[in-house]
Amino acid sequence: MSVPPFHLARRMSGVRPSAIRELLRLGADPSVTSFGGGYPDASLFPVEELASVYAHLLVREHAEALQYTTSNGLPVLRQQVAERLTRDGAPRTADDVLIIQGGQQGLDLAAKLVVDPGDVIVTENPTFLGALIAFAPTEPTYAPVRTDADGMDTDDLARVLEQHPGARLLYTVPDFQNPTGATLALERRHRLLELANEHDLLVVEDTPYRSHRYEGASLPTLLSLDTEGRVLHLGSFSKILAPGLRLGWATGSPDVVERLGLLKLAADTQNSTLNMAATAAYLEAYDLEAHLARALPVYRHKRDLMLATMDATFPDAVLRTRPEGGLFVWLTFPDGPSTGSGQRFDAADFLKRVLLPEAKVAYVPGATFFPVRQEPNHARMSFSGVPDERLVEGVTRMGRLLQREL
Ligand code: PMP
Repeated sequence: MSVPPFHLARRMSGVRPSAIRELLRLGADPSVTSFGGGYPDASLFPVEELASVYAHLLVREHAEALQYTTSNGLPVLRQQVAERLTRDGAPRTADDVLIIQGGQQGLDLAAKLVVDPGDVIVTENPTFLGALIAFAPTEPTYAPVRTDADGMDTDDLARVLEQHPGARLLYTVPDFQNPTGATLALERRHRLLELANEHDLLVVEDTPYRSHRYEGASLPTLLSLDTEGRVLHLGSFSKILAPGLRLGWATGSPDVVERLGLLKLAADTQNSTLNMAATAAYLEAYDLEAHLARALPVYRHKRDLMLATMDATFPDAVLRTRPEGGLFVWLTFPDGPSTGSGQRFDAADFLKRVLLPEAKVAYVPGATFFPVRQEPNHARMSFSGVPDERLVEGVTRMGRLLQREL
């Protein structure tokens, strides 16, 4: 980025284009099979149903859906979200719900709520890149916590919190995390809240993939287990309906929701009335759960196809997660000088040097998901947006090159 002819605020020092932007741009070439973006499968969007509710709104109720509404969001939609949360074990009313521009806005507002420059944010290691981007303008420092197949390791969390007694915010994606696909185990959910209570943290529970479970039993949300009103729970319509609607929700204690509402008002006044009204009308006229019941087997199939193709074609030395839901498989390449070239394996280098030019396949190199010490030997692979045949071909070509390289 060039330097502008005026003074930039200090917070802009942390606001930079991500190193992966260029790589994602290369991945946008139609000849490339990209496992990079975390896009839902667009062929599953209920386009006709949404077309019908938008037309109905504009023809029958034209002006109202184009007017300003309350900053916290259209009451009917807040009520529907409250009912969904109640069915998921956390009784809510419409007043407890704030409609936001996707979960992403909740991350921005949460950091504004509690983080002053230099304050510590605790995260899974690795964590969602978009959260690091959202938090950056508040100039935080990070305390990452060891994360395994059962999510954030709460023994390590206890140690990290001893080291950072003033930590303000704990950010977690407990269900099918982005990027690892890991789900936080039940006993860890309880322990995490105990530690948050002891250390007076705001817990941000980010749940965009919660409904995308392909096997196993659902675990209770941190929101439903919280006894002190310190969980700010974020949800999103992006993966269950369509991300272009830019609709999500935030809920927590009345104190938190009210203050978040003030920050939301300052940021953008309100979400689009039209999109809120159309989504409310969709939820009224159609069955979202039935829509999901049609979509989930498609994602489950793609996950299974990706894992089976990796099993058949990848070297054993490449470790991969087996997520019970969500959209991502996380790869760990051998660390240390065990590669054919005698170099440490660098997933970004492999992508640029070999994978893109030879196999025309892209993923997101993992380093970018680490808030502090960036580990080069990982990649995030999304199985959601690629047609079956291309998925198998792309993963197979990748496996062949890995066999050669490792
Ligand atoms: N949190 C996580 C963990 C995500 O993966 C995403 C989207 N990829 C978001 C939040 C933001 O999504 P949205 O703003 O579309 O709800």
